[in-house]
Amino acid sequence: MIQIEEAEKILNNVKSHKLIEKIKIKDSLHRVLAQDIVARIDMPPYNKSAMDGYALFSGDDSDRFKVIEIIPAGIVPKKEIKRGECSKIMTGAIVPKGADKVVIKERTIEKDGFIRIIEDDDLVNICYAGEDIKCGDNVLECGTKIRASEVGIIASLGIDMIDIYKNPDIGILTTGSEIIEPGKELLKGQIYNSNAYSISAQFAQIGINTKYGGVIPDNIEKTREKIYDLFYKVDVLIISGGVSMGDYDYVPGVLENLGVKLHFTKVAIKPGKPFVFGTMGKKIFFGLPGNPVSTFILFEVFVKPFIYNMIGHKYSPFFIKGIMGKNFSRKKTKRASYIPVNYRDGFVDIIEYHGSAHLSSLSKANALLQIPIGIKEILKGTNVNVRQI
Ligand code: AMP
Ligand code: MG
Repeated sequence: MIQIEEAEKILNNVKSHKLIEKIKIKDSLHRVLAQDIVARIDMPPYNKSAMDGYALFSGDDSDRFKVIEIIPAGIVPKKEIKRGECSKIMTGAIVPKGADKVVIKERTIEKDGFIRIIEDDDLVNICYAGEDIKCGDNVLECGTKIRASEVGIIASLGIDMIDIYKNPDIGILTTGSEIIEPGKELLKGQIYNSNAYSISAQFAQIGINTKYGGVIPDNIEKTREKIYDLFYKVDVLIISGGVSMGDYDYVPGVLENLGVKLHFTKVAIKPGKPFVFGTMGKKIFFGLPGNPVSTFILFEVFVKPFIYNMIGHKYSPFFIKGIMGKNFSRKKTKRASYIPVNYRDGFVDIIEYHGSAHLSSLSKANALLQIPIGIKEILKGTNVNVRQI
C-alpha cells in the first residue's frame, strides 16, 4: 500500500501526449487553450460613448450647445465639436473629435436644436480605446480552461477559431454480477448501477465525453473480453469495481495478464484503499473501487487532476477556509480520510455519512475534508481547509 502523496507523484510523472485541434469558439466551453490568445485589436477599438447623451468639450462654459450631428452606434461622426457645439450620441458610438465628455441625456434639456445642461457632473462617460485590452496584449495563456467569460473575451477580440488540446477518449466499464441498469426491475441481491453514470457525469462536468462499455459480470473471461474490446478504442479506461480482495475481483489480474503495468493497486486513503493505476504504452487504466462514494472521491482527488494534466491544464483544487461547526472523531487513523462536508457561511458542517456506500450523503455535501494519517479528532472551532466539489 502506498501513501496519497506517492500515488500523486506516480500520476504526475506520467508523460502525456497532447494533441491539438482547431475548433470554433462556440464549441470551446470547458476546453483547454493550446495557444495564447493575443489581442489583434484594442478593446474597445475606439473612444466609445458609455451613455446616451451629448458629446462636448468639458472646458466649454457656454450656456447652451448647438446639436450639430446625431451619432448612432456604428456610424463614423463627420463633424468636429467646436465651442458652443455638441453632438447627440448613442451608447456605443464613436466619440467625435473635439469632445472629451458625454453629458447624459437625463441631465440636459433639448429645445430648438440646442441643449442646456441642467445639472453637470464629473463623469466623462467615455470608454477609451484600448482601456480594457491593448493590441498585442497576451490576454489568455495557453493552458487556460475556457469558461463562459473566456468564450466572450475571445469572441470580443474577433477570433472565431482557436487551438485547444484534444480531449482523450475515455472508456467506462463497470463490474459486478449484482449490478443492473436503472430502469430495470430490481431483483433480490441486485444493485442499480450508479457509478457508470456518476463517473460519466463527472467527466461531462470537465467537458469530456465518455464511451460506456456496460456492466461486466464477475467472470474472468467476460472481464478480459470486455476490457480487451474497449481499451483499443480509448486512451483512458476507467473500470469501476472488481479491484478489491474478493474472490471475484478480477480486474487487476486481468489487466496484468493483458500486459498492463500496474503502478499501484492500493492507496492509504479512505474511502478507496483498493485503487488501481496502470499503463500500457500510452494507454491509461484506472480501477476504482465499486462503492459509489469511493468512486466519486477518487475521481475528484486523483482522476480529475490527472486528466486535466493530460489536456494541458494546470489544475489546482479550490480550497475554502472554514471553522469546524461540530466535533469530528474517528477510531482508525492509519489512512488519510476524505469525508463529505457542507461548507456554509464560514463553517464546516459534518454531515451524516455512513461510509463509502452512502452515495446520498454526497448530495448534501459541497466539499471534502481531508483528515491526515494519525489524526483521530478535529474539534469544533478548529480552522480547516476544505476542498470544494
Ligand atoms: P466491489 O469494488 O466490486 O467489491 O464493489 C464494492 C461495492 O460497491 C459493492 O457493494 C457493489 O455492489 C457496489 N458497486 C459496485 N459497482 C457499482 C456500481 N456500478 N454502482 C453502484 N454500486 C456499485
Ligand atoms: Mg464487485
